[in-house]
Amino acid sequence: MTNPTVVTSESQGRARLAPRRNSVFSAVDLDRPGKQIGTFSVPQSPHDDAWGAVQVPLAVIKNGEGPTILIEAGNHGDEYEGPIALGELLREIDPSEVSGRIIAIPAINIRAVEAGTRTSPVDGLNFNRTFPGDFNGTLTEQIAAYVNDCLFPVSDYFLDLHSGGSSLMILPSAIIEPSPTPEGHRRNIAATLAFGAPTVVMVDNLGETRTSTAAANLQGLVVIGSEMAGGGLVSPEALEICRRGIRNVLKHAGILKGEPEIVPEANARVLTVPGAKAYVVSDEDGVFEPVSPLGAMVKAGDVAGRIHFLRQPAREPVTLTHPIDGIVFAKRQPGRVRPGNCCFVLAVDYPEALADGI
Ligand code: ZN
Repeated sequence: MTNPTVVTSESQGRARLAPRRNSVFSAVDLDRPGKQIGTFSVPQSPHDDAWGAVQVPLAVIKNGEGPTILIEAGNHGDEYEGPIALGELLREIDPSEVSGRIIAIPAINIRAVEAGTRTSPVDGLNFNRTFPGDFNGTLTEQIAAYVNDCLFPVSDYFLDLHSGGSSLMILPSAIIEPSPTPEGHRRNIAATLAFGAPTVVMVDNLGETRTSTAAANLQGLVVIGSEMAGGGLVSPEALEICRRGIRNVLKHAGILKGEPEIVPEANARVLTVPGAKAYVVSDEDGVFEPVSPLGAMVKAGDVAGRIHFLRQPAREPVTLTHPIDGIVFAKRQPGRVRPGNCCFVLAVDYPEALADGI
């Protein structure tokens, strides 16, 4: 894999990438005022289409002076509130409402979105574990490289809309992506609180660097994440939080007029996932019975769930216990479970975020 070259642009005030050599093309002009809803094309050459391309939805709404926000949904193809809410925004918004630029990629992992799966059926890859991407790699790696090299460098804010996926139910939350710099961290917290979700959680994915939010952080963007209800479902309540959250972040950035609409239940819990000790993982091959409900306050040692062995009816189930005191932030959705599968994720209070972010 070749890594992008960092160049510094004095006028932009932060290091910007020079895109690696690539063949991606688009009729959407990122610099043209007005509203354009089209695609970018990633050339591929399969058996039935020698000189064809995979088309990925891309929209630009630009007007006047102001910052640029990149809004991404469909990072995982089985997470639906973000793509729905972002599509609504694109249809509803008039360019005259905008000060600056919205770049929207509402079904970025397009083959996974079409399949309704977390990973791409083309190459089996999880888009959110492929950054900074590779233009000489597989389709998923090429799309990540385009976002990393061609969209992050022209953006000031990055909003990445998730929903847990088919395997997890999650408390609808805005997600703080920890920044490598104190100033970046403060800006990320402030922007994430502006989303206005009922729960706010700092998640560092155990230090994972291959996510789109981690890659955007490395390029100095203000980064906001979200995780809506999950389970491969569409939650009307989470969809409403997502709709409001997108507009709130646009107001926070100054791209839409007005103050973020912070409803009474917003930011009621500000939490952090405190590393590997917060994960309840199966060591067994069986069927998972969750005991703790989502959002429950639990103590270390409390029964979290059980794993049953259907082929061995004489065998007692194995009991899973919570490793720490905390709140059940995420819960496994499927019954079938194997060694290494994540059954629960706990979060704990993170009061410093309010002091840091406001
Ligand atoms: Zn996701």
